[in-house]
Amino acid sequence: MIHTDMVCPFCGCLCDDIVVETEGNAVVRVDNACTLGTHKLMNASMDRLKGPIMRDGAGWRDATYDEAIEYAAGVLLDADRPLLYGWSSTQGEAQGLGVSMAELLGGVIDSTTSVCHGPSILAIQEVGHPGCTLGQVKNRADLIVYWGCNPTEAHPRHMSRYTTYADGFFLQNSFRERKLIVVDIRKTETASIADEFVQITPGGDYAVFSALRAIVRGRGDVVPPTVAGVTKEQLERIAEMCKSAKFGAFFFGVGLTMAPGRYKNVRNAIELVDELNRYTKWTLTPLRGHYNVYGSNEVFTWMTGYPYAVDFSRQIAFYNPGETTAVDILARKECDACLIVASDPGAHFPRKCLEHLTSIPTVLIDPARTVTTPLCRCQIPTAVTGIDASGTAYRMDGVPIHVKTFLDLGYPTDTEVIGRIFEKVQEVRHP
Ligand code: SF4
Repeated sequence: MIHTDMVCPFCGCLCDDIVVETEGNAVVRVDNACTLGTHKLMNASMDRLKGPIMRDGAGWRDATYDEAIEYAAGVLLDADRPLLYGWSSTQGEAQGLGVSMAELLGGVIDSTTSVCHGPSILAIQEVGHPGCTLGQVKNRADLIVYWGCNPTEAHPRHMSRYTTYADGFFLQNSFRERKLIVVDIRKTETASIADEFVQITPGGDYAVFSALRAIVRGRGDVVPPTVAGVTKEQLERIAEMCKSAKFGAFFFGVGLTMAPGRYKNVRNAIELVDELNRYTKWTLTPLRGHYNVYGSNEVFTWMTGYPYAVDFSRQIAFYNPGETTAVDILARKECDACLIVASDPGAHFPRKCLEHLTSIPTVLIDPARTVTTPLCRCQIPTAVTGIDASGTAYRMDGVPIHVKTFLDLGYPTDTEVIGRIFEKVQEVRHP
C-alpha cells in the first residue's frame, strides 16, 4: 500500500511530502526522506519493546499496561517534587496532558528545550523575534546565513526544501541566485558550499556580531583589524552582502546557543537582524532539532504563559531557567520522582544528574530501549507519532502540522498512556 503526503517525525523540518510503501506491517520503501528520516521510517517496527517492563532485582520482568500505569501514577502521587521531562518527540496532545498533570501534582515540567534552544527563547523574550515561515524564505530569500549549525548533516533537507537548492516564486534558479554565508568554528559540509565561509574562534560569536553591527551602523572605525579570528575586510564584505540583499534569512543552531555567551549571543544576533532591517528585509529562525520541540514551547506557553521549565510547586506557574530547568533540579537532587517522555537524557545529561535519576523512582515512556532505560525502574512502550500514531506537531517556524499514521502495531499512543496516568492522579487529587 502506498501512503502519500506522510510527515517525517525526525527533525524540526517536519517534511510533509514523504511517500511510504508498506506490505502488512512492514515498510518496504520510503521516498523523498533524507537518510535520517528514511532510517527512522524504514525501521518503524524494529527494536520496539513488546510491552512494559519493570525492575526485578538486578534484571527486568514483563508487566501489563495496567500494572505499569498504576505504578507510574503511584510514583508521581507519592512524590513531593516530581519532575516530568522530555516531551519534544511526542504529539502536542500528550504535551497538553503533561502540563495539566504537572499542575495537579504541583511538580515541574520541562522539555529538551532547556538543553538546546532555551537561550534562543530567553533572547526572544528580551528583544522579540523577527521571524517568518519557511515558505517565505523559499520564495523570497536571496541571502541565507547559517550560523553555528550544519543543516547538511543535522537537517538534511532544509537546503533542498527551503534555501540553497529550492527554487521559489521570486527565485527561479535558486542555486545561482541565492547567496550563502556560513559562520562556524570549523569547516563543515555546509561551509564547503558557501559563498562566504567565516571561521571564528570558539566563543567569538558575540564579538563578531558586535563588529558586524558596528559596521552596519557606519561605525566600522571602532572595529579592530581582526575580531575572533575574522579579518575586518571579511566582516565589511559580509556586512555589505547583508545590506544589499533583497531578503535575508538568518538560521542558527546550538553552535550559537550553547557557545559561551549563550542567550546574549542570540540577543546580539536578533539585534543585528534589527539593524539590517533598517536597510532591507531580514528574518531569523532557530534551527530546531527534535521534530516537535517547538510544539512543546507552544503548548506550554498557551497553557501556562511559559515555554519550558515550568514549576507548579507554588500552586501557580513559575519559570526561572537555571533554577527550574531539569538539569539543575536533578543536579541539586531536588526531585524525588521522574517521568521521562519521548527523550533520552541518559545520552545527554551530566553524570551527576543521571546518578540522581537512578536513585529515585523514574518511569520512561518510550517505544524502544534507550540509554535512559537502565536508569529507570519502569518503561512503558508507546506508538511513534508519524508512524503508528497521529497527532499535532509544530515545525521549526511555528507552523502546526497534522502528523499522520501509516501503520497499526497495536501500541497505545503517548496521549492514551499519559491520559490514563493522569486519570489515576485525578482520582486521588480530585476524587
Ligand atoms: S530533513 Fe528532517 S524532517 Fe525532513 S526527511 Fe530529513 S529528518 Fe525527516
